[in-house]
Amino acid sequence: MNFSLNEEQLSLQETVKKFAKNELTDIAKKMEQEDKSADKSVLKKFADLGILGVNLPKEYGGAGMNHFEAVLVLEEVAKISIAIAFPVFESSFGPALAISNFAPEELKKRVLPKICSGEIVVAVSMSEPNAGSALTDLTTHARIKGDKLILNGQKRWCSGAGHADGYVVYCRLSEQEGAKGIGALYIEKNTKGFTFGKQDHHMGFRGVSSADMYFDDVVLPKSNIIVPAGGFKKLMEAFDLERCGNSTMSLACAQSSYDFVLEYIQERKQFGKRIIDFQAVQMQLAEMKMKLDASRLLIYRAVVNADKSLPSIADSSIAKCFANEITREVTGKAMQLMGGYGYSKEFPIEQKMRDSWGWGIAGGSIDIQKTNIASALVGRRFNQRK
Ligand SMILES: Cc1cc2nc3c(=O)[nH]c(=O)nc-3n(C[C@H](O)[C@H](O)[C@H](O)COP(=O)(O)OP(=O)(O)OC[C@H]3O[C@@H](n4cnc5c(N)ncnc54)[C@H](O)[C@@H]3O)c2cc1C
Repeated sequence: MNFSLNEEQLSLQETVKKFAKNELTDIAKKMEQEDKSADKSVLKKFADLGILGVNLPKEYGGAGMNHFEAVLVLEEVAKISIAIAFPVFESSFGPALAISNFAPEELKKRVLPKICSGEIVVAVSMSEPNAGSALTDLTTHARIKGDKLILNGQKRWCSGAGHADGYVVYCRLSEQEGAKGIGALYIEKNTKGFTFGKQDHHMGFRGVSSADMYFDDVVLPKSNIIVPAGGFKKLMEAFDLERCGNSTMSLACAQSSYDFVLEYIQERKQFGKRIIDFQAVQMQLAEMKMKLDASRLLIYRAVVNADKSLPSIADSSIAKCFANEITREVTGKAMQLMGGYGYSKEFPIEQKMRDSWGWGIAGGSIDIQKTNIASALVGRRFNQRK
């Protein structure tokens, strides 16, 4: 077991770090202030650097690296802001990976190269007004009629809604009840009958658009099916990788808060001395660092064990759950250590704290991950309905 990065990985990390700091900081600030998503010029910057679809196969325009390298890239961009990192997240951990792992060849060729070249962003839409944790209660459905699909229903909380060009939509593709009837399809924005509600404004995640989505007799080619009915388990396997992206976003909020506050406490003076010289402050700092390192190792374990295939549900749920919990704690501690300055919008910590909270809800709540972990430990699923 080796815990060091090799030369190529160090160089990749350094390159992305410099790029993110120099090229993205001001844009990210504007996105936060205006609650607006990244425009196509940002996608072009990502594409030029080759960091969209880092872990997608080269034949579809990806960089052909492994998930571990994708984690390194995502963390550096997300340290600037999670909103600006969203296209990187979606292209390396999110819906792009469901397409790459399970879609028919024609659909892969149609969509993935456009994601990697920054021409389009693709979001994932699973949740509905009455199907959140109980995802298998979803009712959005597509009826198969010859070589066409007729899609109807309503979705909620999709990150990217209204802004993304394409959507991986979980829906019912057969009459079978529960998980058995669920599959997923691909739909482009501007398809007739596909509309959006008003923009949501969250506590954090500013610059990540979100809105209800409505499907009214939307006609799609049958070839837009990514996974047919009966493929819910497969979709969840791809989601195990999404959880590693979610964990990395959480870690990036925490790590960047820690990095900022580490400098601050060595400069700020009270009672005539630097506040790092107070033992209570030293304890906080040590606790933050321990949590960060443990979280990082859990994420690395999940993706290194997976290499280029999909991580296990246990590894990914443990990594997500821990990262979701510690990011709230570490960003909170960072705020406290900065006193009034931490609470001020003039400094980055209050945003990090607001952003950090969303990750333990998005992608399956913290408690749902704990149920997944317990299931993996005893080797059976727990029925939540009985
Ligand atoms: C910032 C953000 C981004 C999101 N992005 C997306 C996206 O891109 N695409 C998408 O499809 N969805 C997205 N979501 C939705 C997200 O997946 C859901 O909010 C989440 O799954 C929880 O569902 P819910 O909000 O309906 O809460 P509920 O399911 O109503 O849960 C409420 C509370 O009850 C608890 N609970 C429920 N059932 C159980 C149980 N069986 N055992 C223990 N506790 C339970 C939960 O842990 C939670 O604390 C996003 C949400 C947020 C906040």
